[in-house]
Amino acid sequence: LAERERGLRRYGFHGISFAALVRILRARGELPERLLACHLGNGSSVSCSKAGKCVDTSMGLTPLEGLPMGTRCDSIDPAIMPFLMDKTGMTAKEMDTYMNKKSGMLGISGISSDFRDLGAAAEKGDERAKLALDMFVYAVKKYIGAYAAALNGADAIVFTAGVGENDREVRADILKDMEYMGIVADFDYNMTCPRGEEVCISKPESKVKIFVIPTDEEMTIARDPARLVTK
Ligand code: AMP
Repeated sequence: LAERERGLRRYGFHGISFAALVRILRARGELPERLLACHLGNGSSVSCSKAGKCVDTSMGLTPLEGLPMGTRCDSIDPAIMPFLMDKTGMTAKEMDTYMNKKSGMLGISGISSDFRDLGAAAEKGDERAKLALDMFVYAVKKYIGAYAAALNGADAIVFTAGVGENDREVRADILKDMEYMGIVADFDYNMTCPRGEEVCISKPESKVKIFVIPTDEEMTIARDPARLVTK
């Protein structure tokens, strides 16, 4: 309660994107009971929902919590902040800028926040670009496992946003070695499926359906006020 009174609460930040995914899956007649949604872009988060209602999300009071992002660090030991401030003399404001603007994929790779640049550099053997991509994949896998535990399993996983929709290699790496959860991806189709369309990339025997769905935040933003006005 004290934290709420101080204005501290978990906001999420990708709620509009997740609402759009739920709306699209419901319209397809494929909204599952237990859904894991991976919004992977310049900002990234994983959320889980039961019957379309959000249960948990990886972002917190600010978008900093959760996954490593283009320029944001992932969840770190909070003691790192006073440790670094002591060591470097950074002010709280400088520390905030450091964590939000200079960390994440950019900070780890030392090259770029853009997954296209990182994929190209990793292919040429750049170790730091590869490390950044590996750390990103590892973090997404960890959230998928954690949220599957929270929901007592998962019926579907959906990928959306710039990386989730377009980066086939990152998607494949996330979906590798997930048979323990009943996830069986069609890795060939993952590499050839059309971009910009709603597609299912799991094999028929997969207990967990895997969708790639283009994010439709604009439509959700347009529909929600209309729904309120016509109520
Ligand atoms: P968003 O924040 O959803 O607009 O996602 C932007 C990010 O998606 C970019 O910074 C890229 O890292 C990534 N992205 C966009 N297109 C591609 C692509 N074709 N392949 C890999 N990553 C992509």
